[in-house]
Amino acid sequence: LRLEKIDIIMFLQRILDRWRPRLARVNVQPFFSVSQSVPQINGDPRALEQVFTNLISNAIDAMSQNGGTLAIHVNPDHSLPNRPQVEITVSDNGPGIPDEIRERIFEPFVTTKSHGTGLGLAITKRIVTAHQGNITVKSFPGGTIFHVYLPACSGD
Ligand code: ADP
Ligand code: MG
Repeated sequence: LRLEKIDIIMFLQRILDRWRPRLARVNVQPFFSVSQSVPQINGDPRALEQVFTNLISNAIDAMSQNGGTLAIHVNPDHSLPNRPQVEITVSDNGPGIPDEIRERIFEPFVTTKSHGTGLGLAITKRIVTAHQGNITVKSFPGGTIFHVYLPACSGD
């Protein structure tokens, strides 16, 4: 990883802006919301772009039939003592992750798509873990929420 200080809000805003034309074509409405005082993070911009590109493209795939809402929220997270993090949630209101693969989505080659590689989430998890972060998922018949946790820069 080539780490640098990243203003994650501006970073995500820029990624989302790049997706806007595609989102509009498939009738997916983007929402972006941020809490006050989100600390900066140390991250590799190219690797992190891949993380959010994978999550957004999966959300689009999940909603491409009927359209929907893609919501990205950024919050400071203080659930770990002495280890401030930034929590980024990426949620969609697609059909949810099929039960039979729910436990295995972060493993390579697990896909339900006819032309899927099943590598997106495996790579995503590797990148997040390499940043000392964590990724979790909640999914139900009305949608899916990925939570990405990245350590805040020490000192702010
Ligand atoms: P791929 O997109 O190539 O199938 P991924 O690793 O990105 O591989 O995703 C693995 C599988 O997890 C997908 O095929 C899909 O079944 C499921 N999945 C991932 N994200 C979502 C989502 N937002 N909603 C529903 N299912 C999802
Ligand atoms: Mg994918």
